[in-house]
Amino acid sequence: MAVHVDLGERSYDVHFRSLDTLPALLEDTDLRTGRCLLVTDENVAAHYRTPLTTTLEQAGWTVKPVVLPAGEATKSAEHLHTLYDEALSWGIDRQTPVFALGGGVVGDLAGFAAATLLRGVPLVQLPTSTLAQVDASVGGKTAINHETGKNLIGAFYQPRLVCADPATLDTLPIDEYTGGLAEAVKHAIIGDVDLFEFLEEHRTSVLARKDRDAIASAIEQAVQVKADVVSADEREEGRRAILNFGHTFGHAIEKVAGYGTFSHGEAVAIGMRAGLYLSHRRHPDTIPRDRIDSLLRALPVEEDPSSLSFDSIYAAMDSDKKNQGDTIRFVLLDRLGHAYVSSDVSESEARQAWRFAIAA
Ligand code: NAD
Repeated sequence: MAVHVDLGERSYDVHFRSLDTLPALLEDTDLRTGRCLLVTDENVAAHYRTPLTTTLEQAGWTVKPVVLPAGEATKSAEHLHTLYDEALSWGIDRQTPVFALGGGVVGDLAGFAAATLLRGVPLVQLPTSTLAQVDASVGGKTAINHETGKNLIGAFYQPRLVCADPATLDTLPIDEYTGGLAEAVKHAIIGDVDLFEFLEEHRTSVLARKDRDAIASAIEQAVQVKADVVSADEREEGRRAILNFGHTFGHAIEKVAGYGTFSHGEAVAIGMRAGLYLSHRRHPDTIPRDRIDSLLRALPVEEDPSSLSFDSIYAAMDSDKKNQGDTIRFVLLDRLGHAYVSSDVSESEARQAWRFAIAA
């Protein structure tokens, strides 16, 4: 099982296999055994650092593990410098790969370190969270946060290889697991009717983390959607923006409620309901609103969003538009499985969409 990301000389494969098979996968790349950095966080290290280090060492690699604190705060200049210090004082050259073992935090931080160390060393993404497997490890966005906002310092830097081991999701806290599924549902809605139907059919077992084959299949199909979008628009100059379905409202929800009140996945699930409402208003004949809404409402959201005022949500969306001209951009659907970017949503329409999104 593999998905190909087609980017010319920067092309790579995303495999859905055990981490035990990593040495064999690496043999099919131009990476050669020698020194490697294994970047991970404390939670992930507790489960996978020793077995993966042993696997790599048995295959001839010399592994330098760097274990960072878990959590979003690790995507900082301070921890980036920790990585630089560890790598450069140990001794690396331009062929020394960085293996990013963990969720999106480790992937984004280690990815940016790989992009900048010695002007670029090889990057291998080993995503262990649902979000990282479905989304963050594929497409080449790497970043750290700045005190003025998330992901403001970064680079597009594609990995040489991604190995997403479905078994690693078993140790993920359940809320992290289901939160990441929101992005899989998003990929289905914007790009793959078959995946949407698959998720409809398997929603109970996939959400309850009860059917590893169905989970692995859903993730692979979701990655295929992202790979197709990224292959067509690597640097988000156009079509890649459709991956932001649900994110205009979603980012505003996270910000207004205070980061951490709603997880990213919960905020995006609510945001997608708003996007669905707007899409159905424009395309009532081609959008099966109730059907899509039913799958969206299956995604668990712990907090009640109705205490957030629309005015504060709208103000947050308005201030977030800073890099996109004068209008707020929304990703809408013209049919299930096909999305586009719209800049002509009025404030009153957005208010109605919010009411729909937060309705019980
Ligand atoms: P995360 O990396 O913080 O992981 C979530 C939690 O799960 C952490 O506590 C982590 O230690 C733990 N964890 C991860 N895998 C585990 C496992 N297998 N077993 C036990 N615990 C495990 O968060 P995330 O949700 O994976 O990623 C969020 C980050 O991804 C954000 O910083 C976001 O900006 C970024 N992101 C990047 C992209 C991109 O395209 N680069 C896309 C989406 C999100």
